[in-house]
Amino acid sequence: MIPLRQNISAMAGYVPGYQPPDIASWIKLNTNENPYPPSPKVVEAVMAELGGEGASLRTYPSASSQSLREIAAELYGFDPSWVIMANGSDEVLNNLIRAFAGEGEEIAFVHPSYSYYATLAEIQGAKVRTFGLSDDLWIEGFPERYEGKLFFLTTPNSPLGFAFSTGYIERLAQRCSGMLVVDEAYADFSDTNALELVKKHENVVVTRTLSKSYALAGMRLGLAIARPEVISALDKIRDHYNLDRLAQAACGAALLDQEYFRERCRQVIDTREWFTAELMKIGYSVIPSSGNFVFAAPPDCDGKRVYDALYARKILVRHFSDPLLKEGLRISIGAREEMETTLTALQEIG
Ligand SMILES: *Cc1c(COP(=O)(O)O)cnc(C)c1O
Repeated sequence: MIPLRQNISAMAGYVPGYQPPDIASWIKLNTNENPYPPSPKVVEAVMAELGGEGASLRTYPSASSQSLREIAAELYGFDPSWVIMANGSDEVLNNLIRAFAGEGEEIAFVHPSYSYYATLAEIQGAKVRTFGLSDDLWIEGFPERYEGKLFFLTTPNSPLGFAFSTGYIERLAQRCSGMLVVDEAYADFSDTNALELVKKHENVVVTRTLSKSYALAGMRLGLAIARPEVISALDKIRDHYNLDRLAQAACGAALLDQEYFRERCRQVIDTREWFTAELMKIGYSVIPSSGNFVFAAPPDCDGKRVYDALYARKILVRHFSDPLLKEGLRISIGAREEMETTLTALQEIG
């Protein structure tokens, strides 16, 4: 017997969304990737970093990614000491658990939301508690004082797409004894965010990713904004060279090209609004979305039937077998033509 820690042998491991090997032959709407390429300036910066012969790769990258902290800090209105860069926001979520939740201590999140928090907690040997949602999308049973070490709030929520109001998030922060981590993976597609709460409440952390809104899922880039004491703790825990040279080059160029970024977000949002209205015309129930995806249920509430029929047409969306979610589908917002094809397929499928 290999002497694994008991919690590691017991855990199942996270299963990410399917990435088909013949990706070009699919309309891929299952993992909320951006349908558009990243800014051309990102490509230029990566090529420049690589140089003709890739000589820069011989040496380690900046350990702190300091110049990126400065760019992000300026963009979000903070001092750079309030920012840390991450190898995907998943890295910083992991390090938050390592920083705040010891073995046997509790973390919590809303179900349904991002189940990776549970995997990270299991690795750490922390306990997991989940809170449900009421029909009007409030968190059910959240105690007057929540004593767990971390509460992860995905807002806009995935897979459902709605966003919690800033006022509501602030009341949650006041009720948390531990840290409130606001996972804003989709905030760039929303008209609200919780950044101001980081300044007002010492237990609030906001995490962001460049995977979705900046079209850089393949580069693995994220960040967190929190008080300097929290940032210093996260700096002790992370891999010291957590962002490679190409990722650092890409990140700077992406964050600086705000004009390109805003235009692409606008296109995704416009397509989302159009697609939502069209789905409703064919009898789907759709939750109004603040993300780059929609959660929608067909008239017969058989999400799996529609998933299979789309799959047969090489359109890949996300279906969750969870009883709370099985009636619907999470459909990422692709380019307009992809969504037109998908809509036509849904009309045929009925
Ligand atoms: C995509 C996603 C992440 C992970 O982002 P990466 O930066 O790609 O690691 C985190 N949280 C939520 C809610 C997400 O949807």
